[in-house]
Amino acid sequence: MGMRLIGPVYLVGGQDFNMVYLDWPANDCNTYLLNTGDPLVLMDCGCGESLPGILENLREMGLDPRDVSRVFLTHAHLPHAGAAEDLRRNGVEVVAGPATAAAVREGGIATAAYHYHRRFVRVAEVTAMAPEEEVTIGACTIRAVPLPGHSADSMGWEATCEGRRMLFCGDAVRSPAIPQHRDRLDYDGETYARTLMGLLDDPPDVLYPGHGPFCLSKTEHWIAEELRKLLGTPA
Ligand SMILES: [Zn+2]
Repeated sequence: MGMRLIGPVYLVGGQDFNMVYLDWPANDCNTYLLNTGDPLVLMDCGCGESLPGILENLREMGLDPRDVSRVFLTHAHLPHAGAAEDLRRNGVEVVAGPATAAAVREGGIATAAYHYHRRFVRVAEVTAMAPEEEVTIGACTIRAVPLPGHSADSMGWEATCEGRRMLFCGDAVRSPAIPQHRDRLDYDGETYARTLMGLLDDPPDVLYPGHGPFCLSKTEHWIAEELRKLLGTPA
């Protein structure tokens, strides 16, 4: 069963739902459902092994997984994008920023699958959305917000629903362990800090991170804390 959060957003997947532990504490991601009525939209989709559990959660909510029209990927890392090809084969359109789209088509090092000792299933077809591009789905408008730093391709998806700006930020805020990410090829601390400072200039109303709990108000506190963690962690 999914967990209702704010507005049309539900948590339908994550490490504690499906008990898929890839590499504690960096782990299977939160998968969110935007239930705008028709169609349904997923934000990230987990590593792949957890997909049956995610779909079962939808069924327990009385929803038909065949009504999922799109999955938006925040970046190419395996815990976020590993199930994308499986969803695509079942008729779901995979949407990502341009760099993520290229990375999941290639299925190479940018997916960080090596980090989890897994193989990434390449995604045959991806719809790329450019930075700042918007799409309206049901009662929500979804905008592509570049959030580079954690990885070069990181793209947040800001959904404006019922008057609230809700940012699905992947690993740009509340990343499980910043020092551990430094061994990844496309981690860039300076860019990461600039991304966080940009978010502080105009913080969203709600933050839905790729891991851990959610920030349902006063998101500037979480963003500032992430920045402190980043700048205060010895290189
Ligand atoms: Zn990541």
